Amino acid sequence: MKRVVVVGAGLGGLVLAHRLRRDAAGRVEVVLLERAGRAGGAVRSEWLDGVLCEHGPLTIPGDAPGLRALVDETGLARAFRPAAEAAQRRWVLGRGRLHGFPAGRGALFASGMLSVRGLLGLDRAAGAPAGDETLRDHAARRAGRQFADTLVDGLAAEAFGGEAAALDAATCVPALRERTGRLLDAVLPDGRQTLHAGLHSFDLGMQVLPDALAAALGPVLRLRTGARAVRKQAAGWTVALQGGDALVADHVVLATPPAEAAALLGPALRDDAARFLRGIPHATVDVLHLVLPEADVPGVLRLGTAAPVLVPGAEARAAGTTVLGVTPTRALFPHHGPRDTVVLRALAGGARGGAEEPLDEALRRATDEVTLLLGLRKAPRLLHGTRCRQALPQRAPGHAHSAEALQGALVACPGVSVMGVGPPGLGEALREAGALARTLMT
Ligand SMILES: Cc1cc2nc3c(=O)[nH]c(=O)nc-3n(C[C@H](O)[C@H](O)[C@H](O)COP(=O)(O)OP(=O)(O)OC[C@H]3O[C@@H](n4cnc5c(N)ncnc54)[C@H](O)[C@@H]3O)c2cc1C
Repeated sequence: MKRVVVVGAGLGGLVLAHRLRRDAAGRVEVVLLERAGRAGGAVRSEWLDGVLCEHGPLTIPGDAPGLRALVDETGLARAFRPAAEAAQRRWVLGRGRLHGFPAGRGALFASGMLSVRGLLGLDRAAGAPAGDETLRDHAARRAGRQFADTLVDGLAAEAFGGEAAALDAATCVPALRERTGRLLDAVLPDGRQTLHAGLHSFDLGMQVLPDALAAALGPVLRLRTGARAVRKQAAGWTVALQGGDALVADHVVLATPPAEAAALLGPALRDDAARFLRGIPHATVDVLHLVLPEADVPGVLRLGTAAPVLVPGAEARAAGTTVLGVTPTRALFPHHGPRDTVVLRALAGGARGGAEEPLDEALRRATDEVTLLLGLRKAPRLLHGTRCRQALPQRAPGHAHSAEALQGALVACPGVSVMGVGPPGLGEALREAGALARTLMT
């Protein structure tokens, strides 16, 4: 029997442990260690005053690899819902006004978002990249600078809390397409198959998925059991636990943030690989849930026309705001809040700064900034605000190559896998967990 220890019960670790327990029973014995008192990692939902507050991801791509099977196996099929059509659209702030960003090239021409010069840029011949490209350069090369600096930069802020000019195109384009569905298809194809199922969530919020996986895993999952160190033995590995005990494993999977994986492996890992894992910057973001009566928002933000609002970097700088984007969540899932109420989930901070500001002040400031940016009649009520420290990885240009090199370095650690260094997001977490489970079962 192969003994596998998975460290970290975020969605990636949970899915891997679930697949091994279910599909390789009798061949693989799996233990899942989680330092915190709950499973799910970044996925965290909470209901307050009849409003669903998603402190982490709001949605998951409906056709993420293996997701349908997971949903069936955990009995969640009836609670699994596609987001409304609004998830395929955006409003984009430009020169203080909201412009529509509709799916498809034709609709983009009609939207008034881009100037004539910007529209001409959409038909640029792609050419070849000079080397590792930023997301901004990639978008500008294919669709012109205006498209890159408004729409793509706004999407990069919304999805990664980052700036298109500082992110790696090779990792971020697939992740963006996964988060935006068909929105970028016509303008920024990346050669991958389009996801057609759209974005999804669950009736009671995203956290039901990790909760159901944790329940199915039973004693396989050990909460409040942090790993302290992973050390090579003559045969296999030892995982030292924070309480002082140790587990012996044939294979160890590190499904923790990358810097933690480097710390756990210590001297077992080559220096260049350790430097890469420790050096991936992570942005801190504040997540605000704001509520107000529907009558107090401009018409375009009422149900029917409402859609997530992008705040491109140039617009944020001009307005002096750290707000990264605002999603009227009931436009995607009307039952995630009371009728006649607008729920705005705003992200602030990330590459736009503010992480050092005390949380209370940052929340007050971001609430005022959302009020001004969206032209709200009254300031909304701050229902909940939380700070996710070091939560959003910023993949710098060249990241894809370094991630490949990491796999080379891990050849010196046979029996160790490190998850979570590919494209960011839940779709990739599921893809990676499924692929690793298949490898470990053979
Ligand atoms: C605000 C926010 C919004 C997001 N929105 C989206 C979205 O809309 N769509 C999307 O696809 N993605 C989104 N993401 C990203 C998504 O949440 C992550 O990509 C995904 O959850 C990462 O899962 P993971 O399992 O790799 O890691 P994590 O969720 O970070 O889990 C890692 C786990 O490891 C545990 N751990 C760490 N060290 C140890 C140790 N030594 N021993 C034991 N356990 C340890 C941690 O406690 C944690 O539970 C968002 C993230 C944030 C923060």
